[in-house]
Formats: sequence, structure tokens, C-alpha cells
Amino acid sequence: MAATTGGGRTRRVVVVGGGVAGSLIAKTLQFHADLTLIDSKEYFEIPWAGLRAMVEPSFAKRSVINHRDYLSNGRIIVSKAVNISNTDVLTEEGRLVPYDYLVIATGHSDPAPKSKPKGLANIKQKMKRLRLLSPF
Ligand SMILES: Cc1cc2nc3c(=O)[nH]c(=O)nc-3n(C[C@H](O)[C@H](O)[C@H](O)COP(=O)(O)OP(=O)(O)OC[C@H]3O[C@@H](n4cnc5c(N)ncnc54)[C@H](O)[C@@H]3O)c2cc1C
Repeated sequence: MAATTGGGRTRRVVVVGGGVAGSLIAKTLQFHADLTLIDSKEYFEIPWAGLRAMVEPSFAKRSVINHRDYLSNGRIIVSKAVNISNTDVLTEEGRLVPYDYLVIATGHSDPAPKSKPKGLANIKQKMKRLRLLSPF
């Protein structure tokens, strides 16, 4: 059941960051709150799948998942959060997103491509570089 405010409004939860922590929190809370996920990219990537993808390229496709594929009951904003106040999150394109509860799950900084095709191309490029370094 969704948590509501005193006025009966469903509580607004904003999650900033769609990595391991943010995606799991958003997926879990989507039917219990008015949920918004703000991530700088449109997809979730399993970080530790990269190594297996190097020896099994088809695995890469399964390790990059669009946020919309697991978030059927929440808003997704593909943008960078650039500022946070006590009431709102400001995104790079100037959108002000109000919240009752804020989850900051921005992890570590590692620039990643914004779209899924570019994310896959990025993985392929990393694999190519590693093959060039490999003695085999
Ligand atoms: C190769 C590799 C192997 C690993 N293996 C393991 C393992 O076996 N077991 C294990 O437990 N851990 C492993 N880890 C570590 C694990 O991946 C991290 O601990 C985990 O990803 C951290 O999750 P997170 O959600 O905090 O951050 P992240 O996964 O880094 O996610 C942060 C998200 O926030 C977004 N973001 C950042 N800044 C902003 C902003 N300003 N606005 C909007 N969005 C923003 C990013 O785009 C990203 O989606 C591994 C990591 C790597 C790289």
C-alpha cells in the first residue's frame, strides 16, 4: 500500500542515481510511493558483468537493462541532478522535481554513455582494447 501524507497525497520519493542501489530502491518502492528516478542515463548496467561479457559477448546485452523494463509504475527522468534543496532536485535541463523523501545513490563518478546502443558500443570498445593487450 502507498504511504500518504496527512492530506491523503501519496508521498513523493525521488531517487537520484540509477545504479545498483538506486535501481533496486526504485524498483522496490514503485508501488508504495509516487516515485521518480533521476539518472544521467536511460539504463541500468550490471557493473561486474563486464568481465564475463569479454569472453561471452552476447552476455553484454543482458547486462544492460533499460530503466523502463523494471520500472512500470514510476517516472524516469534521464538527466543529471545538478542541485538539491530541502524540497526539490534541479536537473541539468532546468527541471525542478519536488520530493517528500530523497534518496541519493550517485555512487562513484565514471562517465557512461547516455543511450543503451552507445553503452553497448562502449563495452565493445573496452573488450577490443583488452584483446589488443592480451598475449593470446
Ligand atoms: C568491474 C567491477 C566489478 C565489480 N564487482 C563487484 C562484485 O562482484 N560484488 C560487489 O558487491 N560489487 C562489485 N563491484 C562494485 C559495485 O559495482 C559497486 O559497489 C556498485 O555499483 C555501487 O552501486 P551504487 O548504486 O552506489 O553506484 P553506481 O552503480 O556507481 O551507480 C550510480 C548511478 O548514479 C548515476 N549518477 C551519478 N551522478 C548522477 C547525477 N548527478 N545525476 C543523476 N544520476 C547520477 C550514474 O549514472 C549511475 O547510474 C564491481 C564494480 C566494478 C566496476
